Amino acid sequence: MAIAEAPAAVAAPVASPGIVEITGLRKRFGSNEVLKGVDLSVKRGEVIVIIGKSGSGKSTLLRCVNGLEVFDEGSLHVDGQPLLHGNVAAMRALRQDVGMIFQNFNLFPHLSVGRNVMLAPSLVKKRPGPAGVEQAKRLLARVGLAEKFDAQPDQLSGGQQQRVAIARALAMEPAVLLCDEITSALDPELVGEVLRVVESLADEGMTLMMVTHEMNFARKVADRVVFMHAGRIHEIGPPEQLFGSPQTAELKQFLSAVH
Ligand code: ADP
Ligand code: MG
Repeated sequence: MAIAEAPAAVAAPVASPGIVEITGLRKRFGSNEVLKGVDLSVKRGEVIVIIGKSGSGKSTLLRCVNGLEVFDEGSLHVDGQPLLHGNVAAMRALRQDVGMIFQNFNLFPHLSVGRNVMLAPSLVKKRPGPAGVEQAKRLLARVGLAEKFDAQPDQLSGGQQQRVAIARALAMEPAVLLCDEITSALDPELVGEVLRVVESLADEGMTLMMVTHEMNFARKVADRVVFMHAGRIHEIGPPEQLFGSPQTAELKQFLSAVH
């Protein structure tokens, strides 16, 4: 009996995986479940702005992505690599791929600005002296601080220190940059200079996941806005959708409170 030849397998178009793939992510602190199943796929070059009230799990989510928190369930991939706690080589690779900037700059106070930017690559990437200096100068120029290479952190304003922190994160050439309320500790007049640097990174194609209360920035720069509520992604979509036609009572209430 002739058997009909099976049609040649046609490769199904596989949606290209995100640079950050978060699936079913759960995180508990004791009996307090802080992330209750988060799914998010971030495309290369995408700018994700995360909003939501205090305690909704925004920082914990970012801290899971760069391996600062051990999650309980689900999976997390960065640039195709699974985040495996306990696997030293995998965690080291992750730390190089994921940069993070915090509210309080966290510069090394005893090191010059240039040394702050050069430290991690000199330790991890074994970038030799002159190349490291050149890279640090280029990155400081990129954040508008070319002339501050030899300054000490405490000689700089908060906005300048935060821009150094951005340059320091970029020195590791991360695939993704996480920003957790990076303008919240700044005097209002210094917020703009930091946001302009972040916007320029976005324009240059950097993948960003950014927690912020700066709604105007979110409107202007985000590709998608994530509204976190009680440990879940409660709404997600382009800024015009989330800000223009919020669907849930929780988001409506949040937006009326921040405006
Ligand atoms: P957000 O950044 O949205 O304000 P967080 O992710 O910081 O929220 O916190 C979410 C919840 O997790 C809060 O209830 C907070 O108290 C709790 N939490 C965060 N970090 C810890 C920790 N290290 N130990 C215990 N509870 C924590
Ligand atoms: Mg937070």
